[in-house]
Amino acid sequence: MTDRAPILADASRIVAHDEPNPYEAVVPPIVQTSLFTFASYREMEETYLGQKARPTYSRGLNPTVRVFEEKLAALEGAEDALGFASGMAAISSTVLTFVKPGDRIVCVRHVYPDAYRLFETVLKRLQVEVAYVDGQDLAAVAAALPGAMLFYMESPTSWVMDVHDVAALAGLARKNGAISVIDNSWASPIFQQPLMLGCDLVVHSASKYLGGHSDVVAGVVAGSSALIGQIRSSTLPYLGGKMSPFDAWLLTRGLRTLPLRMQAHQDAALAIARRLAAHPAVESVQHPALAGALPQGLSGTSGLFSFIFRDGIDVPAFIDALSVFSLGVSWGGHESLAVPGRVVRAQNAGPNSAIAFGIHDNSVRLHVGLEGIDLLWRDLEAAIAAASPGSAAQ
Ligand SMILES: *Cc1c(COP(=O)(O)O)cnc(C)c1O
Repeated sequence: MTDRAPILADASRIVAHDEPNPYEAVVPPIVQTSLFTFASYREMEETYLGQKARPTYSRGLNPTVRVFEEKLAALEGAEDALGFASGMAAISSTVLTFVKPGDRIVCVRHVYPDAYRLFETVLKRLQVEVAYVDGQDLAAVAAALPGAMLFYMESPTSWVMDVHDVAALAGLARKNGAISVIDNSWASPIFQQPLMLGCDLVVHSASKYLGGHSDVVAGVVAGSSALIGQIRSSTLPYLGGKMSPFDAWLLTRGLRTLPLRMQAHQDAALAIARRLAAHPAVESVQHPALAGALPQGLSGTSGLFSFIFRDGIDVPAFIDALSVFSLGVSWGGHESLAVPGRVVRAQNAGPNSAIAFGIHDNSVRLHVGLEGIDLLWRDLEAAIAAASPGSAAQ
């Protein structure tokens, strides 16, 4: 429980009114500008020579984006953070900062599908070799790491929710001289602070819980000043996927309620997951808290998990019978969502089949939103009844 003190201390910082603010407004302004002008030749020269730090152009530094970056860095216990136009922009810029042709990276299996596709397309074209390992098998990770430039992980992993011992994996990466990068979108810094567990860099799809209202696509990376400085100077300006001021403003608004929302997602998803686990139509539930004790460093669980129906349940009929849960990808907002595993498997047949590997034909992924446990459970129960053998709808 000693882990929780810094989290709560940092959580207080995301609601504090400590942003630069010329009008004493309770909300920091949106500095919606592409460029910033200089008062004199001398000021311009000092800025360009790096003697004076001030914004020049919003692809590099924007005050509204900086407010969000500083808050996120505080939440993750990082020295610095950088905001991006999407989670994938954060992931691609981060990885491309540290690899060159001939390098090798090690990646845990079952990661976010577009991260996998980035590795399989762009990295392969750059002659970067990628080895996929079961992140729960420490011996396999230890065997794959020697010589790797970078170790990429996610815990829990997308869809099948493999939970990892992040501290042990980060320790193995460090021992082998590999930079460790973890996608922390699922737990958010409220429930997991990977840098405190020894990871080097933490990335987020800010489109998920950090924003929390399904109205932003954005990303962020946090870590030491040295590593973030490398990303800031070597890929961010040229790949150019910088976060916009308005998105940063929405994200800062989202952060104000992050601890409360994460608690509510946790409570509702756990209650629903337990009821599903006890339902006769359900074969199994893939939720980190139902798989045994949470690993050290994961102090809570979020709203996203999967479950597998027993044979005989009509999955398309179940999906179409839902009325509170909407059918859609992404997650992390107020709304509850369902995705059928079969569609993901069909989409990823063939060369991308490693993405579908592990996704059961009868599985459904749920994001449990903030509509209320009983309403959501009634929706699921009715939809299961409509999809069960012998139902009038069959
Ligand atoms: C959505 C998601 C991403 C990608 O983020 P975008 O903001 O959509 O680019 C990365 N990792 C995980 C785990 C995600 O769920």
